[in-house]
Amino acid sequence: MDRPAAEHPSGDSGQEALFGWSDTAPAQPPQPFRDSPQARRLLDVREVYAEPAALDSPRGQQIMARLPGVSVTEIANHWGIPSLHGNDGNIARWVRIKNGTLVLGVKHTLRTRPNGRSADWIAPGPSNGCAMACAYCYVPRRKGYANPITLFTNIEAIVAHVRRHVRAQGPKPAPNQCDPLAWVYDIGENGDCSVDALVCDNTADLVAAFRGLPTAKASFATKFVNPDLLALDPQGRTRVRFSLMPPDDARLLDIRTSPVPERIAAAADFLDAGYEVHFNLSPIILRPGWQRDWADLFTHLDDVLPARVKEQAAAEIIMLTHNQGLHEVNLGWHPRAEELLWQPAAQETKRSENGALNVRYAREIKQRSLTRIRELLAAHAPWLRVRYAF
Ligand code: SF4
Repeated sequence: MDRPAAEHPSGDSGQEALFGWSDTAPAQPPQPFRDSPQARRLLDVREVYAEPAALDSPRGQQIMARLPGVSVTEIANHWGIPSLHGNDGNIARWVRIKNGTLVLGVKHTLRTRPNGRSADWIAPGPSNGCAMACAYCYVPRRKGYANPITLFTNIEAIVAHVRRHVRAQGPKPAPNQCDPLAWVYDIGENGDCSVDALVCDNTADLVAAFRGLPTAKASFATKFVNPDLLALDPQGRTRVRFSLMPPDDARLLDIRTSPVPERIAAAADFLDAGYEVHFNLSPIILRPGWQRDWADLFTHLDDVLPARVKEQAAAEIIMLTHNQGLHEVNLGWHPRAEELLWQPAAQETKRSENGALNVRYAREIKQRSLTRIRELLAAHAPWLRVRYAF
């Protein structure tokens, strides 16, 4: 059917449709965000360390094809790269390492663990490490803080494992705090899937896999807005959880991340692109003025989020957990962060299963603070249902 002239977007009575003329150059496909200068500021890979099997894999070859001319050092095992991991000698180089180095490895142990708080299950993640550098991050605890992204290239095996696990569960028998209907699988425990997507399709493959799993849903937390994810068509089967904290805290602690207002502003776009959009209110850090600043953040959410985002949103509230080893490391590169994170008068220590000395707000302080945060939410953003608080 001919398009009526009045509908022609150029307003020129439809000549283009009649004669095939065009005064303008043919439309170019939009440039992926991952190729933009903004993306490069976060991640501009100049060296790759790779296990040979990872390099030989289809995913490894796809990643390397996008990195022409980048030098590759073969390694035996992605877990131990002496010049890269560990903290000694790397403190001054963290940001450079996180910006310019990528590790490719094979994930040998594919195991899905029960969780029950944020998600029903923790899936074997497609990466370990991060290009961002939040001062409280627990992810580098095993490799040392200078822990750039390791991408696992055996993504087909990871996806096949997750599919099998989902199918073995059958339908979810009863609603719980994770989700009323779907089994929720956290796919980003040890990294940030939005940033991984700057250099490979692992995130895209997992989003695509969950699109075909009607009893399950993927979930990942992120502090980075990657517009390329808007094209992945999750069809409601992936939950993205934008992490939020008062912007002043984030400027000091969330190093290299997208600014908090940008994360909030992205929520409607992600919902419209087919994601479920939740929020992680985390970590809650107690300091003078914290209640006022969280109240301001909730007011901002209430002011700017459209009704369709609010109707489906839910939140996790997570109080800060810190670590003595990380405290000592941070003193070497970001002592101002420790003025907020390290407060022995309010915190108590607990030895974790792996022997690390973790630091948490004392039980009574924590309970009082959680009650207060819930009160602030009820007062300023009552539509934001709390899925769990910890
Ligand atoms: S974004 Fe997440 S994984 Fe990355 S440094 Fe921050 S807390 Fe760690």
